[in-house]
Amino acid sequence: MKKNRQKSSVGLSRRLHFPDDEKRIPWLSCLLDAYAIADTGVAIAIRDAEKKGKRRLACGKGCGNCCVHQRDIPVYPHELVGIYWYVSEKMTPPLRDTLKSLLSVHGIGPPCPFLIEGSCSIHPLRPIGCRQFNVFTSTCEPGEDPYYTRRDDVLVPIAGYTDRAFAAVLAFYHLDKDADVAKAVKLVRGQIMNLLEYDWKKLVNVMDEAEAGRTATAS
Ligand code: SF4
Ligand code: SF4
Repeated sequence: MKKNRQKSSVGLSRRLHFPDDEKRIPWLSCLLDAYAIADTGVAIAIRDAEKKGKRRLACGKGCGNCCVHQRDIPVYPHELVGIYWYVSEKMTPPLRDTLKSLLSVHGIGPPCPFLIEGSCSIHPLRPIGCRQFNVFTSTCEPGEDPYYTRRDDVLVPIAGYTDRAFAAVLAFYHLDKDADVAKAVKLVRGQIMNLLEYDWKKLVNVMDEAEAGRTATAS
């Protein structure tokens, strides 16, 4: 059964690769592995739910009502580090400038500061919680939280894939993978934060420092 699922999951999700950065940054490969595992789990869960329930996924490009009104967006320390890296090193103007302005004025609560013109500006490095939040049948109305309005339409992620995604980042926390994976994963899960309550001005400072470094190198 497990074997069939693995075989049939081939091609359902693709791991992102940043070869030069992965050589330079030790934790990056673990994080990209973790996201690939999580995405595969999501793709399988969607496929199975569509087949079983004869319904279609409603989420799609340009639909971002959840990013506008959700009050609780889970994020973990290893994901924050990934976002910092992506925003300060990979993002380019004018998106970077727009994001900097949004982060500078972001207080506590929605909307998510990374939503720009209806799209997630950190899509390749978006947190696992965002990857796993999917809704079937119809798109969410503005302000609708489908957990309350139609719980059955909300995707239930496959727990095994979620656990494996967390197990892939244990090295980031200096946790020994061979000791007790379940316990270690629980420890990582315990680090949960709300993306909307984080002080994003810290990232603005890092973006400024990165920009200053680039200017100094160029001159
Ligand atoms: S969760 Fe709802 S609002 Fe968010 S992308 Fe899916 S359908 Fe659209
Ligand atoms: S990080 Fe991206 S996907 Fe997640 S809530 Fe913010 S804009 Fe939406």
